[in-house]
Order: sequence, then structure tokens, then C-alpha cells
Amino acid sequence: TPLLRVDDLHKQYGNTQILKGISFDLERRETVAIIGPSGSGKSTCLRCINYLETPSAGHIFLEQELIGEKKLHNKLLRRMNDTELAPQRQEIAMVFQLFYLWPHLTVRDNVAIGPMKVRGMPRAQAYELADAMLDKVQMLHKAASYPEMLSGGQQQRVAIARALAQQPKVILFDEPTSALDPELVGEVLNVIKKLAQEDRSMILVTHEIRFAREVADRVIFMDGGHIIEQGTPQQVIDNP
Ligand code: ADP
Ligand code: ADP
Repeated sequence: TPLLRVDDLHKQYGNTQILKGISFDLERRETVAIIGPSGSGKSTCLRCINYLETPSAGHIFLEQELIGEKKLHNKLLRRMNDTELAPQRQEIAMVFQLFYLWPHLTVRDNVAIGPMKVRGMPRAQAYELADAMLDKVQMLHKAASYPEMLSGGQQQRVAIARALAQQPKVILFDEPTSALDPELVGEVLNVIKKLAQEDRSMILVTHEIRFAREVADRVIFMDGGHIIEQGTPQQVIDNP
């Protein structure tokens, strides 16, 4: 069975259909890249997967467990509230286009606070974990700095360390380099590439087609709220 299953996902805002039946699987250790024109629903799809947005219809399963919905009497479904969702969200980390670090916390605290607050990890252990994750993204030397002292590329690497410290089963990346100055894109892509080589399970929404071709095991091309094509990078990118 797949690690993550997206099953007939629909999303509408008012009368506008944004996602019109999206279905795909993410296997364990797989990197899937989602590409497609701006406005095709890629970001909305990611946001529905971890319930930052509530799908209008369809289901998300993580290891066959329904995300964001609860079965009542074995058939009726109801939405989970935020408290019920919190442990499930923890399993699906998200890295945003804009990094959303806490400005009043140091880099180390930004990474450690999730494990402490959400997982109840003891402080010393959370700091040890934070330092290990910062080391992985080569930001340990800035652990005591505040986000505003860092470049955009550095902040995004810290945001990736924060996602890793969540110890999630899946990491979602929503255009992680599109807010960066061109000279800072490479350092972030290198970190993501390293994670792909470690066989993390990841979904990457990106405009960096060459990068998608390089790191993705599978590529999904979306347009107009539909999946138009999915397959190997060669199938989808080289033979459009
Ligand atoms: P992509 O990531 O492929 O660029 P998005 O998922 O960001 O696409 O957006 C898809 C469409 O949904 C766009 O037309 C966008 O304007 C619309 N949209 C996104 N969020 C909202 C919202 N909260 N309310 C209404 N429309 C939205
Ligand atoms: P867009 O793709 O349209 O530029 P973003 O990727 O910047 O949008 O996402 C903005 C959304 O993310 C906002 O709706 C905001 O509420 C939400 N958001 C911001 N910070 C966080 C966070 N730390 N955790 C979860 N959601 C967040």
C-alpha cells in the first residue's frame, strides 16, 4: 500500500472549482514533483493534503488512515477539529514559499519549539534534535541568530530543518525557492536534493523543471485543476 493516497480530491471556493478530482499515490521513499502553470491548483492540492484547507470532496489517506475526517458508526464521516488534527498534521510537514519563521525566536528555538510543544519532547532532547537538523541543512553555525539576520536562502534552510525536526512521514514543499533571489536558489535546492537522496518521502511543487527532472522519481503535470499526466520525469518532461 502507498504511504499517502490522494483520492478524488475536489476543492471549490464559492462557485469556482479549483481542484476537479485529483488522485495519486506517494510511495514510501519516493519524491513526487508537481508541475504545471500558475493557478492550476498545485498549492491548493498541497494545502488540502495536510488540511490547511478543507477539501470539498475526496479523501486523503496516510498509511491507510483517513486524514482530517473521523468515521462515526463505521460509515458516517465528520471533519476533525484542530485538536484532533494536530497529531496527524505532525506526520505531514510543509515547507512554504515564504518561510514563516518566528521573528522573536532564535534559529535553534524556531526548530526546537515544535518538538517541545507538539510532541512534548524534553528541552535538552529537542535542542539536540534541532542542532542535528540544523547541521543537516548547514545552518548550525547560525543557531543563535534571529531570522532577520539571515538571507532568504538561509531562512528557507532553517524552515526545512524545522520541518525535519517534526519527524514527519511526508514532507510537502510548496514552491520553496520561488521567493528567493536567483543566487540563493541553489543552496536550497541542494538541501532538497540531499533529502531526496536520503529517500525521504516528499511532494515538491516547483517551477524549477530541470530540478524536478533531476530529483523526482515521478512527475505530475497539473492544469486547470486536473492531473493531465503523471509518470517518470522522462515521460512527462522530456516528451510533453
Ligand atoms: P498554483 O499553486 O498552481 O499556482 P493555486 O492552488 O495557488 O495554484 O491556485 C489555484 C487557483 O485557486 C487560483 O486561480 C487562485 O486564484 C485560486 N485560489 C487559491 N486560493 C484561494 C482562496 N482562498 N479563495 C479563492 N480562490 C483561491
Ligand atoms: P501563496 O502560495 O498564495 O503565495 P503561501 O504559500 O504564502 O500562499 O501561503 C500562505 C498561507 O499559509 C496563508 O493562508 C497562511 O495563513 C498560511 N500559513 C502561514 N504561516 C503558516 C504556518 N506557519 N503554518 C501553517 N500555515 C501557515
